Amino acid sequence: MPDIYAKTIREGISRYKTGTHPQLKLNHADMKKLILEKFGGSESDWKDPSWQLANVINDFETLKTLIKLEEDEIAGLTAAENGGTVSNHPHYLSLINKDGRNDLDRAVRAQVIPGFRYCQNVYNNNNTTVNMDFMDEKNSQPVEGITRRYPQIVILKVFDSCPQICVYCQRNWELKTLDRGKVAIETIDKAIDWIRLNSEITEVLITGGDPLTLTDSRIEYLLRHISAIKHIERIRIGTRFVTLPFRITESLIKILKNITSLEKEKFVS
Ligand code: SF4
Repeated sequence: MPDIYAKTIREGISRYKTGTHPQLKLNHADMKKLILEKFGGSESDWKDPSWQLANVINDFETLKTLIKLEEDEIAGLTAAENGGTVSNHPHYLSLINKDGRNDLDRAVRAQVIPGFRYCQNVYNNNNTTVNMDFMDEKNSQPVEGITRRYPQIVILKVFDSCPQICVYCQRNWELKTLDRGKVAIETIDKAIDWIRLNSEITEVLITGGDPLTLTDSRIEYLLRHISAIKHIERIRIGTRFVTLPFRITESLIKILKNITSLEKEKFVS
């Protein structure tokens, strides 16, 4: 039986092209040009993470001017009343086919452009019986900003949005109510205090939203304060900036190196 599963998976995956496929490279170059023209950006802007974050495409109208949307995508975004279900930084959007969905962009696209059923469930939840809080986050938050995922492991939510919103996000149940931005430092401090007072907690996953959306100084602040807590053995940063590699700057690497050299016994990953 496992062999049959493996074969089915291999055949399914082989339908999609890899990022090095020549046609995908051409599409990407075309889209990049189109987006740079739209936002008046230059080649050097493209590799600047702050330019990418300043030009996040999170409204239906702008999205429609850059890519052809499929009927189910239009129905979904219409049902969501453009409520921010969609968010993409220019670099990720440049991986999507501007002339409509096909096997070249299906996998990349499906992660960030929601269809009708998703929007119906997330944004019109009162009309459905679907519970989108799959991880029961509502009942596992001892203080604002913390989810106690496992007895020893907590999630620290330091940012209430992402430059790229994924359809599979476990926080999608609260998308409608989030302020979409930096969480107040007082809230973060109280959450860190809660961790400090709970010696059973040994691991912190810093996530959000996406923590790498924060400034380097805020990231350093978080790491310094959490790593100073004696009972914390491991700190992890949950990020999707793999889709925007330019964010991993020299200065960020320096901060991570400094923290790990100061707190040798702790593991930051
Ligand atoms: S928190 Fe993670 S999964 Fe959720 S939208 Fe942001 S990057 Fe995607």
